[in-house]
Amino acid sequence: MIHEILPVGILQCNCSIFGEESSREAIIIDPGDDIDDILAVLRRHSLTVKAIVITHGHIDHIGGAAKLKAVTGAPVYMNQKDQELYDHLDMQAAWLGMEVPERTGIDMEARDGDSLQLNATAFHVLHTPGHTQGSISLWIPAENKLVAGDTLFRDSIGRTDLPGGDGRQILRSIRDKLLTLPEEATVVPGHGLQTTIGREKERNPFLTGL
Ligand SMILES: [Zn+2]
Repeated sequence: MIHEILPVGILQCNCSIFGEESSREAIIIDPGDDIDDILAVLRRHSLTVKAIVITHGHIDHIGGAAKLKAVTGAPVYMNQKDQELYDHLDMQAAWLGMEVPERTGIDMEARDGDSLQLNATAFHVLHTPGHTQGSISLWIPAENKLVAGDTLFRDSIGRTDLPGGDGRQILRSIRDKLLTLPEEATVVPGHGLQTTIGREKERNPFLTGL
């Protein structure tokens, strides 16, 4: 499996590009910005986008979805509980002093227990609310990889002081949905460096006593 991680936009959101070698199909997770750079990666590997998946409705993760969808025609997946955040993209842009990006419709609802297929590889949707109410993580057992959005970071967890955030809920999500994954599983957070489930269990100061 091809997997490129591109930090995009002013907040350097980790956009994941997964490409399956035989079908040349791709899943793009969190195309927050810099769509031309994402398209260049797709061209370099001769990939066609099958799905655009949004881990949550914050502008740095979803800002480029409309543009990427317009170019590729791929459907956008997001949990419906973040629709309201997405509806207020203009407000999010104002907080960050950014231009308001174009918006698009959500084509498919990403619910807990759903899965997307990239040829034989399954991407399982885990609903992990707390950073936002519609936050999801993607668990890819065949790759032993978790794409965690802004739920779990190396040495940290997602902030819960923005609208829709809930400090107790994010810890419950991490404990029940993420820390139950294999310790050696790689975690690709929404920002910053990769880590593993085992490392965060042992060292993440926000998770002590969970
Ligand atoms: Zn966020």
